[in-house]
Amino acid sequence: MELNVSRRVLLAGSAAAIAASGPVATGFGDLAHAKAPMAGTQAPYWYRFKLGAFEGTVVSDGPLGLGDPSETFLGSSKEAVKKALSDNFLAPDNVVLEQNVLVLNTGSNLVLFDNGTGAAGAKNFNGKTGKLLANLKAAGIDPKDITALVITHCHIDHCWGIMSDDGQRNFPNAQIYVAQNDLEWWTNEANGTKDWIKDFIAGARRNLVPNRERIVFVKDGQEVLPGIQAISTPGHTVGHTCYMLTSEGKSLCNIGDLTHHQILLMETPRLEFSFDTDPKQSAQSRVKTLDMLASQKIPMLAYHYPWPGIGHIGKMGDGFRYYPSAMQMTL
Ligand SMILES: [Zn+2]
Repeated sequence: MELNVSRRVLLAGSAAAIAASGPVATGFGDLAHAKAPMAGTQAPYWYRFKLGAFEGTVVSDGPLGLGDPSETFLGSSKEAVKKALSDNFLAPDNVVLEQNVLVLNTGSNLVLFDNGTGAAGAKNFNGKTGKLLANLKAAGIDPKDITALVITHCHIDHCWGIMSDDGQRNFPNAQIYVAQNDLEWWTNEANGTKDWIKDFIAGARRNLVPNRERIVFVKDGQEVLPGIQAISTPGHTVGHTCYMLTSEGKSLCNIGDLTHHQILLMETPRLEFSFDTDPKQSAQSRVKTLDMLASQKIPMLAYHYPWPGIGHIGKMGDGFRYYPSAMQMTL
C-alpha cells in the first residue's frame, strides 16, 4: 500500500473528483461565485487579561519588519540563523517583530508601558507601525486617562509615541518614568556615532525633552508605582529596565527588549542583536533575568514576541525555551 501520497497525487485526485461531479465554475479561486464576500479584515489588535486584582490590556502598535535576520542577529553564522528559523517554520529571510504595548489598570493608576513608534517612526517601517492610538481607542481606552508612561528604554519603537507629529502630547495627563542614564544617553547628540543612532537620538529628544518636568527617574529594585518594581537590565541600552508587576501574589514580568526573538534569542541567548549598545552586557542581562524567571516560573510579557507576547520560560540546554500562553477569551 502506498502511504507516501505526494501532493501531486492528492491534487490530481481532487481535480478528477471535480471533473467527475460535472460542470462547476473553476474551483475555489472563482470569487464571482463565492457564497459571501471575503471579509479582508483581521480581529482586533488588543487583548485583555487579569493579573490578580489588576487588569492588563495588550495593545499593538503594529508589526516591525526587520528584513534579513543575518544583518541583525550576530555572533553566529548566517546559515545557522536561517536554519534555526526555518526549523521552526519561520521565514528565514524576513524577521517580523510585534510591538506588544501593555496598559495596566492597577485601580489607582492606568499605566502604559512603552508607546510605539508614533507617526514619525512609522516612516521607518513602511507605515505599518504607529497604530497605538487607534488600537487604544478600539480597546476602549482614552489616552487622557493614562496616568503614567513607564518606559523600558528610549528607542524609536518604545518612546516615539509620546508626542504627536505636530508636537502635542498624546497622553496629556501622564507622568513619565524612565532610567536616568537611558534618558541622558539617548538625548545626548554627542552619542550619535552612526546614522541610525543619530535618528534615534533626534526622535528621543523630540518626545522626551519637551516633557522634562514630567519625568520621574526609576532605580533598580525600586517600587516605581504600587505593584510595579523596576529591574535594571542594561546592555540593549545603558538603562534598559524590566518591570515586575505583582498583584495578590501573582506576578508577570514585563521584559521590554531583554530578548527580541522567541527562537534566536532564547535557544541561543548569547547571540548578539545589532541594535544593542553593549551586546555582551545585553546577553549577560538576558541570561541572568531569564534564568530567574525560569526558576521561579514567573510568566513574562515580551514586547517583540508573537502576539500578544505572554508566556513562560523553561531552561533548555544552555539556553531557554519559550512557551506561549494560550489566549483566554473569557475573563
Ligand atoms: Zn524594541
